[in-house]
Amino acid sequence: MLRAAAPRGRLPTNELADGVRSGDRALLARAITLVESTNPAHGAQAQELLQKLLPSTGGALRLGITGVPGVGKSTTIDQIGINLVEAGHKVAVLAVDPTSRRTGGSILGDKTRMSRLALSPDAFIRPSPTSGTLGGVTRKTRETMALVEAAGFDVVIVETVGVGQSETAVADMVDFFLVLLLAGGGDDLQGIKKGIIEIADMIAINKADGDNVIRAGKAAAEYAHALQILSPRSPTWHPPVVTVSGRENIGLDDLWRRIEDYRAKMSATGEWQARRQSQAVNWMRDMLEDRLMAALDANPAVAAERPALEAQVRSGALLPTLAVERVMSLMGLRSLERNGATP
Ligand code: GDP
Repeated sequence: MLRAAAPRGRLPTNELADGVRSGDRALLARAITLVESTNPAHGAQAQELLQKLLPSTGGALRLGITGVPGVGKSTTIDQIGINLVEAGHKVAVLAVDPTSRRTGGSILGDKTRMSRLALSPDAFIRPSPTSGTLGGVTRKTRETMALVEAAGFDVVIVETVGVGQSETAVADMVDFFLVLLLAGGGDDLQGIKKGIIEIADMIAINKADGDNVIRAGKAAAEYAHALQILSPRSPTWHPPVVTVSGRENIGLDDLWRRIEDYRAKMSATGEWQARRQSQAVNWMRDMLEDRLMAALDANPAVAAERPALEAQVRSGALLPTLAVERVMSLMGLRSLERNGATP
């Protein structure tokens, strides 16, 4: 595997950057491996690489897709990807799957699940990073997104399953968030997390084919009604509910036209850019949080005292507030709350 070979065959950052920009797939894969590496020695080079590539990033339409296992994500992404490639686009598919850390492998972004797209020279499929917390996985996916954009992919699809906070994390790194659902037996609205509807830019009821067409249409009407009750996040865009069949390629052209329509309308009002700007700030905050926690974990003075502090907090001998004050001072940071007054 590349990861094991990385230290020996290490490439200069410039060479890697040029390779990525020229669309060299092998070098793109190496760049992603570098970004995903947990080795601190690789971290510095990864940041240097990203900094160099920054001017070449940001050009893609970023589409997030979520849905429970079995809803048809891979079938649908495979077909949307094929449609886009046929229309002249270059499509990258990334995955955010925080459970891959535990299972040792991601079911998302697996090439065998998108067998036709995987064969296309204009597509690039990358499974979820298999180490790290959700925060770590999302940070790596954001960085990988920057790399594939620099490599010339003009559509990036980020796939996730409804695990924990992964949908919110993905919604916060894409321009458009699509939720795939299935028509159930009348209990449609109960079967899904309410929060997910609130972050959807569009809902697509999948498997609207064969016997299922009428049920899917009914479900779509119910969801459309539910969405009307929610106050829309944007004055410009009211999330539509559509029916599609990923397997039969029904409704996917219409779905894509609506996404293009979204881009045109939101760009005209400035909301498209504003969303990206606030995402960039959120990215910075997430990373800062990551780095501060890493610094905390790596601090020897904190490491030495933390078990005793936790034991005292557990037994009630020490207030959590005071324990935090102590850790802050061990880190060389003064708490804002102190303001000269000793608690
Ligand atoms: P994922 O787990 O969300 O990625 O779902 P898959 O794409 O693997 O699909 C799960 C199952 O649903 C497979 O057996 C697919 O063949 C089937 N499936 C996916 N999309 C459709 C569709 O549009 N119509 C029908 N009838 N079946 C579908």
